Formats: sequence, C-alpha cells, structure tokens
Amino acid sequence: MHLEFFGAAAEVTGSCHILQVGGKRVLLDCGLIQGGRKDEARNADPFPFDAAQIDAVVLSHAHLDHCGRLPLLVKRGFRGPVYAQEASCELVAILLADAAHLQERDAEYQSRKTGKRVKPLYTFVEGERVVRQMRGVKYRQKFEVVPGVRVRFQDAGHILGSCAVEVWAEEGGVEKKIVFSGDLGQYDTPILKDPEPIDRADVVLMESTYGGRRHRDRAQTVAELGGIMTSPRSREGNILVPAFSIGRSQEIMYQLGKHYEEWDLGRFRIFLDSPMAIEASKVYWEYTHLYDEEATRLRLENGGMPLLPNLTLSRGVEESMGINRIRSGAIVIAGSGMCNGGRIVHHLKHNLDRQETQVLITGYQAQGSLGRRLVDGNESVRIHGQDVRVRASIHTLGGLSAHGDQDDLARWYECMENRPPVYLVHGEVGAQEQFQAYLGKRNGAEVHLPKPGDVLDLGAL
Ligand SMILES: [Zn+2]
Repeated sequence: MHLEFFGAAAEVTGSCHILQVGGKRVLLDCGLIQGGRKDEARNADPFPFDAAQIDAVVLSHAHLDHCGRLPLLVKRGFRGPVYAQEASCELVAILLADAAHLQERDAEYQSRKTGKRVKPLYTFVEGERVVRQMRGVKYRQKFEVVPGVRVRFQDAGHILGSCAVEVWAEEGGVEKKIVFSGDLGQYDTPILKDPEPIDRADVVLMESTYGGRRHRDRAQTVAELGGIMTSPRSREGNILVPAFSIGRSQEIMYQLGKHYEEWDLGRFRIFLDSPMAIEASKVYWEYTHLYDEEATRLRLENGGMPLLPNLTLSRGVEESMGINRIRSGAIVIAGSGMCNGGRIVHHLKHNLDRQETQVLITGYQAQGSLGRRLVDGNESVRIHGQDVRVRASIHTLGGLSAHGDQDDLARWYECMENRPPVYLVHGEVGAQEQFQAYLGKRNGAEVHLPKPGDVLDLGAL
C-alpha cells in the first residue's frame, strides 16, 4: 500500500493525492489549479492516472482548489462515489455549478476573440454528474470507502463542512493510519467549531498555506470593523464589501449580526448581492448543528438565522442595479472576493469616486486583481474600459483568514501524542520550509516536503 503525492505538493492549489491499497485506488481531493492563465491551463492536462481506474474519491471540503477538477475526472471515466461531509456536498453542488458556468462563459468569449472554437474545461451538465455521484457522510462516523480503506471525517473548522480526514488502510494484515488535514481553520473562527483533535496517526499530510506566519489578532480586526461601521463617514456614504461567496460572506454577516446593537446597524440597509453567496448562506443557516457555542446561543436568542433583520437577499440583475441608485446608508456584500468579476465591480464603478464611500477588503488580493490595485492605493483604476478615480477610503481587514496560522497548525498537530512524521502539502515552498523549521524546533517533528510524483510506502512506516 502506498500514497502518491500529485497536486498541491509544493504549491498552494490543485490538491490531489492517490492512495493505493489492496489493488484499489482512492483519491484524496481532486482540486483545480488556480492562479495565472499559464498555471490554469494545466487543468486541461491529462491526469497522471487513468480516471476510470479510480475506485472512489474522498473530499476534504468545498473549495475549488480541493474539488474543482471532479467534473473532469467524471468526464474522463470515473464512475465511483465521491464521499464528503453532508454540508460539503451541498456547497460543492453550488460551487461546481458556478465554476462550470464561468468556464462556459470564458470559452464563449475566447471563441469570439480568437475565431476558433474553444471548449470549456467542463460544462454545467458535467458538473451536475459529479453531484449525482456524491455521498454525504456525517462527522465522526467511520465508513468503508473500498475494501481495506475506512475513513472518518473530523471537523477542520475552515469552512462549513470542512474535514480533516482519518484514513485506516489495511493490506495483508497490516493496518496504518493516515491523517489528511485538508485545510485547517483558525481556532476561535466565528460560527464554526474549532478543529477537532485527532489522537494519533502513523503519518500526517498537512496543509501549510500560512505555515510561515502569524495572523493578526481577530479581536483587533473585529474592533477595526466596528470602527469603520461607526465612523462619521458611515453616515454619509455606502460601504462596499467584496467577499468570497463561501465562508467570508457568511462571516461578515455574522459579525454584523453579533454587533448589530453595539454598532447601531439598524440605520443601514444591508444587501447580500450575489446569487451564489445567497445559496451558500442558506446552507450555512440550515446546518445549525455544526455551529460553535456562541453562534448557537446567538441563533437561539435571535429566533433563527440570519441575525440581520435589515438584510436583503438580492438575486436578480434588476435588484442589483437598483442598489446602484442608493447614495448612502447601504452595506453591500458581493463577489468576487478579489473584485476581478461579479457584481461588486459595478458597485465599485458607481461608488469609488465618492469620498464618502468606504471599501472593506476582507481577504487576500492576488497580484493583478482590481482588489489589489485598490489595496496598493492606485489613484485611478480601470473598470469596464473606463478610468475611475478612487476617492473612497479603502480599508484592509487583516485577521479574517479561513486558514490557521503557524501556531494553529502546530496546535492541531500536537494533539497527536505519538508525533507522527509529517508531509507538508498545499503551501508555497517558502512557507513550507519555515513551518518545517518551526515545527521541528517546537516539538522535534520529522517534517518532509514531498514533490509531485513522490511515493510514500505506507507498509514501511
Ligand atoms: Zn479551503
């Protein structure tokens, strides 16, 4: 029995690892490579295995860099089950429908531009096929994936339904336990429970996105958010919040709901202006049994979710355009998170040149995105072919990461009392090297940095 590192070894996106036990093959995640055009072109490459020969997939959570290549896997012949936590299954369906839609639109655009027929990476129909192969499983329930491989999901506290995966692999009377961290959240993330402790493993595959740094204090970030919501400027103009549809949008709404009285938010109209974020929020509002103590208490006190009485869910294009006519007193939460598409772009276009506007950047902004140009303080930005002057104040809230930092990752690892060897996946090499040194110094852990194609012999552990 062995484990082959394929995607997200020495890079941040495209998580995918292959477990072979007793002649069966199980994929851990099947994620999309994200980044520039050149990186993303690799998504269309053949898999380094025959998709039809894969017996099952085990999915850690509903982010595209963990599940976004599943439609391709199905398109190329995979017919087995995809196991994921129940809430994850619902979020994956929303996510893949949106991703397929974007792929189709992009292919259409490229076809027009080049005059050649460009095919989408996958279509909406192909995305739907994945959803039919998905099997929802509860946390903490051991189940058989294929003969010789049993799995149990533990809460990873990263987004709703996110899992660290315990895998028991058995071949020829020998059993080994592999733990795959998926993406781990910060401890004390709002709404979600903390990452669940796992007591032991023979080997750990661990994410290391922020293995090289420490996050800013969350309480301080929330205080900054309060400062913006109660500033004199908040009485004069609109507040725009670009946010990712799954996770960040719900967290922002939760923080606003939690501090509703304190920040006097009743004087605003709050809009969630994104059909996808609305769908994802409904899943968040439905799976209340996955909440932490505070979210459970607030929900009961409020008599249900969402916590905001003045929230408008804006689905249609007309409704969204109507928001553009509001000159003050609106808080608009819309995608995309990096402002490189989606409805937020229209709101920015209508509000950026007004001094009384405030823009709240709540997540990472990649080089080249509109969000990044705003964070970098450009005096003017180009939107839909027009130059727009930036007179709005741009605030960056640093402490809302969905990923644990160095200390969170180490704390999770240290729950495993036997200190198993660690293989770092899903992180840039720099962050991995820093985390390797940090963990080694902190508790003497043996830490490896696998490369794509490296094979780990599980029997020899
Ligand atoms: Zn993730």
